[in-house]
Amino acid sequence: MTTDTTHDARNLDARHVLQIYKRQPVVFVRGDGMRLIDDSGRAYLDFLSGIGVASLGHAHPRLSAAIAEQAATLIHTSNLYYHPWQGELAARLTRLTGLDRAFLCNSGTEANEACLKFARRFWRTRGETDRSKFVAFTHSFHGRTMGSLSVTWDPHYREPFTPLLSDVKFASPAEPWLLDAMVDEDTAAMIIEPIQGEGGVRPISRELVEAIHAARKRTGALVIADEVQSGSGRTGTFLGGELVGLAPDMVALGKALGAGVPVGAALLRQSVADMLSPGDHGTTYGGNPLASRAALLFLDELEGGLLVSIRRVAAYLATRLRELALKHADVVREVRGAGLIAAVDLAFDATPVVAAALERGLLVNRTATTVVRLLPPFIVTEPDVDEAVAILDAALTAATLQGVQR
Ligand code: PLP
Repeated sequence: MTTDTTHDARNLDARHVLQIYKRQPVVFVRGDGMRLIDDSGRAYLDFLSGIGVASLGHAHPRLSAAIAEQAATLIHTSNLYYHPWQGELAARLTRLTGLDRAFLCNSGTEANEACLKFARRFWRTRGETDRSKFVAFTHSFHGRTMGSLSVTWDPHYREPFTPLLSDVKFASPAEPWLLDAMVDEDTAAMIIEPIQGEGGVRPISRELVEAIHAARKRTGALVIADEVQSGSGRTGTFLGGELVGLAPDMVALGKALGAGVPVGAALLRQSVADMLSPGDHGTTYGGNPLASRAALLFLDELEGGLLVSIRRVAAYLATRLRELALKHADVVREVRGAGLIAAVDLAFDATPVVAAALERGLLVNRTATTVVRLLPPFIVTEPDVDEAVAILDAALTAATLQGVQR
């Protein structure tokens, strides 16, 4: 049930937008590097990048120029026709992931949806028609289409839409020794986020990776890595799973890959690709020249120096957040993360801290109730980190005082 809770009376159009988002009380009209500028001209330091998307920051000159040039040349032809940018992007992504084939689409949920379908098709083509089950993990988030939602754990997202795929089991990432009993010869695939993002920024352990690999070895079940949030360089490696030795059969990418242009990708091993035929899956827009060009420009920047600076700035961010946690030890339970995905996990609901940060000109968000999540653009620098941590410090103090006064 939606009521008309128009969040911004200044914007009459908002009355006609479906009210399914809880909006922050700010309207951004422009961006510049690490900053977003609102309709009163106030600048905010962006440590969220549109939930992990604006990887090159805002109004990046080379990205804007490439998009403008491509728009003036050719935006879309459909997948009835090959385009060289698509081939080049697929080649780059297979090299970066060590996989063999790329299916290009438009979002993270679509990339996961493709991987789930490819897993079922893999077994079906091999004649194992009953092999349709999936094993996912507690606290997972894989998207909101019916397939991706079926392997998403949080009942809040799932329950209004049941029945979903019924043959999904959820294993606990914290109890790798229990995984073995949940994977059998009817399991088509296991799907795992190397760093659970929406679930509260929880990196998975090497023990869990070993258990996943062992279950695959015993049963043949495929391994899908959902790297939509953790991948495309965010951890300072191209895939977040590289940090814990995960060797997937398929990888889903999205978010940062298009640097703001909607781009998703499913990467496959050749053995899986061999089981697919024309017509098995598809998309009208996926991999169009504009989207592919944007993703290629992003990869140029990433490999042209950003990966190195991500690692350097990420180490600095981790140090500064540990200091912050020590200073606010009464309310900060833990800081977690890897690379440029970080969580400050609080002893209370993070909403007032996110609001206090916004008031002070810093964009972060709340996830898993108690977590302040940081997903800065990859162009972030040490001075940006200093500024963000100073604001978070003040926001934590303000929110804690508010709590004490209540
Ligand atoms: N998978 C993961 C790990 C995500 O974090 C998200 C989005 O937050 C998705 C899938 C869904 O991506 P999209 O919103 O682009 O469909």
